[in-house]
Amino acid sequence: MPELPDVEATSRYLLNSGLAGHAVRNVELFWSRAVRTPGIEDFVLTLCGQRIETVGRRAKFLLFPLDQGWTLVMHLRMTGSLLVEDATTPRPTMTRNLYVLDDGRELRFVDPRKLGQIWLLQDTDALLAGLGPEPLGPGFTISVLQSCLAKRSAPIKALLCDQAVIAGIGNIYADELLFAANIHPLTPGSGLSEPQLARLHAEIEPMLLEATETLTTSMPYHGPPTESPEGLQRLKVPRGRNGVCSQCTGPITRVPVRGRSTYYCEVCQAA
Ligand SMILES: [Zn+2]
Repeated sequence: MPELPDVEATSRYLLNSGLAGHAVRNVELFWSRAVRTPGIEDFVLTLCGQRIETVGRRAKFLLFPLDQGWTLVMHLRMTGSLLVEDATTPRPTMTRNLYVLDDGRELRFVDPRKLGQIWLLQDTDALLAGLGPEPLGPGFTISVLQSCLAKRSAPIKALLCDQAVIAGIGNIYADELLFAANIHPLTPGSGLSEPQLARLHAEIEPMLLEATETLTTSMPYHGPPTESPEGLQRLKVPRGRNGVCSQCTGPITRVPVRGRSTYYCEVCQAA
């Protein structure tokens, strides 16, 4: 599932493709249920003719501010990805929506499981208001992380994945972060020691940035970049049967935490 590095890499790829500054000339919706708001007719009529000013990201949402005050918002969910291609390039069969640009190229939303979501909004506050702080950037200090986890008895694994607690981290990077910081995934959020908090905080920004930069070089990828060969090779915690710990060569354990498969090493993440 796309997480912050995948969405940030997608945003950078779209900017590198020169999407900004181009107007949307036409919209084709092959899976119109992806559009959450407004209604289909209004979505198409409002969007056509508007120029994409830039591409940004908040949590796992991609934001496309438009020149008439609207913002196109996309969420890739489980299997979505975006491509900018010439109209003459054959469309991937799983293309669900596409946006014809004024230079003839197409922004293509490819989504095998049809779970991606799209909004066209004048005000994004209501959609984005409940999100926790962004883990990249100077504002995300240890004390901010500490306040995110204070009084939270849920397992740290679940809290890291909770978009209302911290924005952008998902199942895979939560496991990678806890492994790198030697923290047991079932530790209650409020139960982290100061050294554990410091170790976790020290891992977050470098890991997410390094993953973003690696994934950006493998763009465009027809599928969730985390599942690309480059993406999977980079993971320190093997996901699957009979995984071996990259630190101690012991077995990797799998437990469900709030319904999500969680992989960890019982030796390296004992505490
Ligand atoms: Zn280990």
